[in-house]
Order: sequence, then structure tokens, then C-alpha cells
Amino acid sequence: MPRVYLDNNATTAVDRLVLEEMQPFFLERFGNPSSIHAYGQEARRAVEEARERVASLISCEPPEIVFTSGGTEADNAAVIGAARALGGRGRHIVTCMAEHPAVLRACEFLETQGYEVSYLQPGTDGAISPEAVLTAVRDDTILVSLMAANNETGVLGPIAEVGPKLKERGIVVHTDAVQAIGKVPVHVEDWQVDLLSLSAHKFHGPKGVGALYVRRGTPLAPLLLGGGQERGLRGGTLNTPGIVGLGKAAELAGRYLPEMEGRVRSLRDGLEEGLISRIVDTQRNGHPENRLPHVMNLSFSGVHGEALTISLDLQGVAVSTGAACHSGSVAPSHVLVAMGLPADRVQGALRISLSRLTTPKEIDTALAVIPGVVHRLREAAGVRFF
Ligand code: PLP
Repeated sequence: MPRVYLDNNATTAVDRLVLEEMQPFFLERFGNPSSIHAYGQEARRAVEEARERVASLISCEPPEIVFTSGGTEADNAAVIGAARALGGRGRHIVTCMAEHPAVLRACEFLETQGYEVSYLQPGTDGAISPEAVLTAVRDDTILVSLMAANNETGVLGPIAEVGPKLKERGIVVHTDAVQAIGKVPVHVEDWQVDLLSLSAHKFHGPKGVGALYVRRGTPLAPLLLGGGQERGLRGGTLNTPGIVGLGKAAELAGRYLPEMEGRVRSLRDGLEEGLISRIVDTQRNGHPENRLPHVMNLSFSGVHGEALTISLDLQGVAVSTGAACHSGSVAPSHVLVAMGLPADRVQGALRISLSRLTTPKEIDTALAVIPGVVHRLREAAGVRFF
């Protein structure tokens, strides 16, 4: 049975070129980049080259990149670190109800530490209006954290519109760009953000490594205290092979951006239109245009997303009900709930996410398999659609 992987928002396959660049740093070039001997120096050179590649992808200066263990750590370091550094100036933070748990849980932690957080509600299309953000900020607002693109719906955030205005007011702006990197252009100057999170495994790099962009001069208290690595912003021996992989993945992400916006977008559109036309009572969740090019979120009435995901897996098609981080739990998607969608639509939601490695043949297979499985589940539940 051919297997089809359409869950690229959960994670992506490591590109072979990425793996090839990483391999020597596990074997003969295993030095600690903080050591002063030749082993250390060659590891340091590789780390600094990776830093340049990541900086080039988002158009910042290499010293503004701090390597982390992934998106979760970058989000925690940004939100908690900025709040701690700025706590003397004010204690109000603005974010959104549909953020990733890495931001939401960090905000909830800050609430226990005497900070106040405003959680903006997205519209039924998943979008947040720039006006809502600008209305929510106050004189004591120190931080606004809004994702560049949502991991469940792909809907883009208003960061480009609000970033420059918030900067004028001296508010630190963080964006979780974990899902946006490699899918749409991301330039920190265009958005005027101060902090930006990214994670290698979402764009064909290795798991367990990411980065936080920290604009020069941004107040930030470190989350991990230790040996003073990363200019004192993140203690811990650097994960050289992972960082090298992140660097190569960043270079490739820039190179393949036109392909994501062209070929992958048309594959996504073809699959989405095919499913909507073949399966009656199917609804798209999220704004139809203002979203990433590789992901769709659909609800099939009368079908439970969890049951559908399991049935599709038995047919070799890997998709998701929403955030992979929540799989294993049957809790409804907090993103779709925040959008105010009715319970049956939330329950029936399926996230399908492509990558630049997705082939037209895989799309044909998905299109051949998914409608039959939905119909069978509907029949089993005694639901009739005409
Ligand atoms: N932020 C978003 C939007 C994500 O989609 C994810 C991963 O699902 C994360 C943060 C966490 O990243 P990581 O898996 O590297 O910790």
C-alpha cells in the first residue's frame, strides 16, 4: 500500500542535503564550539555559518540569532524573557486565543507572576483585525505576541500591519513564525518585530533545534542560565549538528520559496477543490485567501475528525485533526473553538498539510481515498447526505 504523508505542519522529512551537512558533526567534527582548540574552532565556524544562513533567510544581522532547542523554547524565551526584562515598565501583554500552546502556556505562567494578559478572539475566518490589536494595547502594555501564521488553519496574522505601529509606541513585538518560515517571505524589517521564533523541523531540518531572533537592543532576560553561551541569552552547549542542519534547511527554505508559493499552492488548491466538490457538506475552516499556501483545514459534517484520521491512516494517508501536539487527547481544537465555530464543525475538522516533497501522485491518491472513507463513516453513523 503506498503511504501518503500530508501532515507537514506536524513535522517534515529532513532534506538529504541537510542530513549530509550534519553528519560530519556527529563523527569526526564533534568538537564543542566553545573550546579553543582546532576541534572547537571548526565547530564554531560551522555554527557561525549556520547563523549567517538563518539571518539571511529573515533579513537580520547574524548576532541577532540565538539558537534554541526548537519553537517551544524560542516562544517561551521570547514571552517570558521579554516580560521579565520589561516588568518594571508595565505588566500588560496582548496575545491571541488561537496562539500555539508554547505562547499560551507561557502567558498563563506570567499571569501567576502578576502580569495581565489580554487574549484577542479571532473572527470566524480565523483572522485578527489590526484594529483589534491596536485597541487592546494600553500605556502599560509591554509586549504583543501574535503568530505569523496559524498551525491549524494556516491563516496569516496581522503582524505586518501592526508591527510598525506598535514599534512607534515602544511596545516589544514577538511573532511565532514557526509555520510561516519557508512558506511565505519573512523579513523582520518589513514586520518591524523585535522577537521571532522559528523551528528547523517544520522546514525539512532536524527536530529539537530552532532559533529566536532578538533585535539588537531588545530587553530580554535569559530563560536558561549556564555557561554564558549565545551572548548570555541561552546557556548550554550548542547542538552543533542540529544547528548546522538548521542552517542548511534555512538556505534551502529561501531557495524553494517560489515553489511553495507556486507548485505546492496549486497542488493544495487542486486537492481542496477536489474534496469540496466530491464530498457534500464540506466546509473550509479559515480565510480562503489570507493563509499559507500548503495547508487546508476542512470539516465534513457528521464525521468525527479523530475517527476520520484513524480510518485514513489505515488506508495509508497521514493527516491530522489539528495540532500534533494535542494528538492523543480528544480535546477539541482550541483554535476552531476560539473562531466560534459550532461544535460539530470543530469535531469534524481535518488538517491536511503539504510540503515541497509532496507529489501530484500523492495528491491523486488522497483524492481517491478520502471521499470514500468520509462516505463510509457517514453511512456507519447513519448520516444521509443528498
Ligand atoms: N509554534 C507553532 C506555531 C507550531 O506549530 C509549533 C509546533 O507545532 C511550535 C510553536 C513548537 O515548535 P517545536 O515543535 O519546535 O517545539
